[in-house]
Amino acid sequence: MEVGKGNGQRALLRGLEDLPGTLHPSVPLAPHTTFRIGGPAWVLFQPHDLGALTEAVARADALGVPWRILGGGSNVLFSDRGFPGLVISTGRLASCSREEGLLVAEAGFPLARLVGSGFSFLAGIPGTVGGGVVMNAGTRFGQLGDQVEWVEVLLPDGEVVRWGRQECGFSYRDSRLHRLGLPVLRAALRPKTGPPPAEVLAHRRATQPLDQPSAGCVFRNPPQAPAGWLIDRAGLKGARQGDAMVSPRHANFIVNTGRARASDVLTLVDRVRQQVLKRFGVWLQLELDVVTT
Ligand SMILES: Cc1cc2nc3c(=O)[nH]c(=O)nc-3n(C[C@H](O)[C@H](O)[C@H](O)COP(=O)(O)OP(=O)(O)OC[C@H]3O[C@@H](n4cnc5c(N)ncnc54)[C@H](O)[C@@H]3O)c2cc1C
Repeated sequence: MEVGKGNGQRALLRGLEDLPGTLHPSVPLAPHTTFRIGGPAWVLFQPHDLGALTEAVARADALGVPWRILGGGSNVLFSDRGFPGLVISTGRLASCSREEGLLVAEAGFPLARLVGSGFSFLAGIPGTVGGGVVMNAGTRFGQLGDQVEWVEVLLPDGEVVRWGRQECGFSYRDSRLHRLGLPVLRAALRPKTGPPPAEVLAHRRATQPLDQPSAGCVFRNPPQAPAGWLIDRAGLKGARQGDAMVSPRHANFIVNTGRARASDVLTLVDRVRQQVLKRFGVWLQLELDVVTT
């Protein structure tokens, strides 16, 4: 049976009130994303420890209420209507320790804080370890999955297991963890020498519209050519829908120039796909995570 908003919200607030963490009813999601877009979640929960996260998932499942894990919100687009369920933010789960040459970080640990410790390729990528692992975040200088030793994952039956790199099924800006929608609790990461962070950042600053809200690259690069190149050659730089605009600086970024709505972004995404298909016969796949539930 589908749970309605009033009942679902009340049941969540009652059901989670004894867990260590903070509960926020009807909270707009826009400020929790780098796109600055998204309507309210029925409830936003910020667990204070990993046990509270796993328990919140179990209780939402028992209530039949949809849930979603939110890291830094730098690769998601929530609907203008918001999220009809529980959004679990990992913002307070941000401890990190060194164990036998590895960095063991909780899901909410910021990627930015790894940069100087053997993860220079992450320089300038917003977001968290959890989001970075499931998205296999990276650049042409490296990708996070290659430096994962193991990941602690919450399975649908409530069991917490440790998966090695192979089981995580990393691929280009994706993973088996992402495809299965499994919460990542902690990750053990192996530091590696890379290019100086300043070099990585200089490349980013020269090519990306970092002064405007966005969610980074919207499309995965297809085998034929970089998505940004295809979009540029299809004449779409600067194309607008409402306050959403294909960045004139980097055509694979859609930026929010003011009060863009999710519907504006999705209309623009569709237009870009159709134009690129017409011009090059390539159907672009999304890298941006569009939250549909
Ligand atoms: C300006 C800008 C530049 C960017 N540049 C790059 C780049 O160069 N390379 C790159 O790869 N990405 C880039 N990104 C995209 C983004 O920063 C990465 O994908 C990042 O890893 C997302 O992490 P997050 O914590 O913000 O995830 P979120 O956006 O919060 O979530 C993304 C997805 O991961 C899931 N998720 C989050 N945390 C967990 C968890 N603990 N367990 C399970 N699922 C989880 C969410 O449910 C969602 O499906 C950029 C974004 C911006 C805004």
